[in-house]
Amino acid sequence: MSRPVPVEEAAVAAADAAALVAASPRPDRARWLDALAAVLEAHRDELVQLAAEETHLSTSRLDGEVTRTAAQLRFFAGVVLEGSYLEATIDTADATLTPPRPDLRRILRPLGPVGVFAASNFPFAFSVLGNDTASALAAGCPVVVKAHPGHPLLSRRVAELARGVLSDAGAPPGVFDLVEGVEDGVDLVRHPAIRAVGFTGSTAGGRALFDIACARSAPIPFYGELGSINPVVVTEAAARRRGPSIAAGFVGSFTRDGGQYCTKPGLVFVPDSDAGDALVAAIEEQLLLAPSQMLLTEHVTAAFDHHVARGEFDGRSILRGCAAVGETDPVVVTVDLGQFLDRHDYFVHECFGPFAVVVRYREDRDLSVGLVQVEGSLTATLHIEDSDDIAALVEQLSARSGRVIFNSWPTGVAIAWGQHHGGPWPATTSSIHTSVGATAIRRFLTPIAYQDCPPALLPEELTDESTVPRRIDGEMVSPSRLRA
Ligand code: NAP
Repeated sequence: MSRPVPVEEAAVAAADAAALVAASPRPDRARWLDALAAVLEAHRDELVQLAAEETHLSTSRLDGEVTRTAAQLRFFAGVVLEGSYLEATIDTADATLTPPRPDLRRILRPLGPVGVFAASNFPFAFSVLGNDTASALAAGCPVVVKAHPGHPLLSRRVAELARGVLSDAGAPPGVFDLVEGVEDGVDLVRHPAIRAVGFTGSTAGGRALFDIACARSAPIPFYGELGSINPVVVTEAAARRRGPSIAAGFVGSFTRDGGQYCTKPGLVFVPDSDAGDALVAAIEEQLLLAPSQMLLTEHVTAAFDHHVARGEFDGRSILRGCAAVGETDPVVVTVDLGQFLDRHDYFVHECFGPFAVVVRYREDRDLSVGLVQVEGSLTATLHIEDSDDIAALVEQLSARSGRVIFNSWPTGVAIAWGQHHGGPWPATTSSIHTSVGATAIRRFLTPIAYQDCPPALLPEELTDESTVPRRIDGEMVSPSRLRA
């Protein structure tokens, strides 16, 4: 298995490849992405085995993740072919306007080489060939991945396969490479050839690297997809009507794969009422049935144990599952609103692993006071009934999250044109972008307008003959109208 190359070599090769990758026809890039999907699937058994050994995640979960990762790559192939991501816009010249308008044609173009930091908890879907790599390649940018140290052998093997298929598919040398090590990660962010960074990981790690990206003499965009508390609100009516199923859904969601999801519901507001008491009792029952899990790395396990110990809870407020030897059992801490407000700095911070906090609230006003303490999250979830008057609550949660979920659970992020996987700080370093879904590609593109440009010099998608979806003189024009 080939070892990773030095940052300097990878970054310079990416810079050398940048113009060719940017100029590559969209169908060619779609083929590269399809080829990467196919090679993952062709080596599925070998890769799942490697990932299981390095991450302790189950083979069934990892098998599903390979399928997801291939689907993501193919999804971005479709996005590239469709072409609306280019935001092609044409304003024809009009001398009668005040001021007169020249011929203006605007499009998005690739930023250049992108550094990608892989996450520990998705060894495929947010790792070497994950969403960041797929969307950057789709945009027309070479990629240098910083491998996550939690699965080094898997990262090297996937990179080796990727280099091979990209070369076979005719992609320029330097279009993709892999580096390793904490210092190399920092050097990658600092390297002048790197024009943007996609990062998936902790808020602390993301912040450190974001600061480095901003401190460069030429700062670059840094898209950090970070940790998240993902608040949930259960109304009195929902607790009364569906308490047991909400309890089962919550425990299933926050303990899934050892709670090692950025979308794990980590903070649940439950009414302080008989129905709320019954719901908490049902959570306790479900916890005893929940599986324990060996966490991803020793570092994750130590951080989890430290967080739980730091809580200094009394024996009455902490509920635990049953762990097998060497595994971590799920933990739920229950507090009233006063206890929550007293230590909100502790309770609103993500604990990566199977840990969640239940806050009991008496009135809607208390709920609103509690939610004010909750910082930006990737998701917010509501369990409600039709009779609930919750418009203000939806607005409060919309201002604090990237995706609001009704009567379901946040773990599980569909790959779709309408998906948004982002949110206000500290869930991300850039709340206007997403790392999942079609618009993830937008992070690696920058606008350019051409004024009175000779047709022969225009990008193909801005010529009069192009059939990509675009806006002409203020009106959206569909491909069928363009072809007519
Ligand atoms: P992490 O510790 O932040 O590591 C992520 C990457 O950043 C690693 O490659 C790590 O390299 C590097 N890194 C971290 N701090 C650094 C620093 N100060 N200087 C240079 N490099 C640094 O994250 P993790 O523990 O692996 O992953 C778990 C976190 O990811 C959780 O918080 C989870 O919620 C989040 N996550 C978020 C999403 C999302 O989409 N928002 C998805 C999945 C996971 P080294 O280890 O080599 O230092």
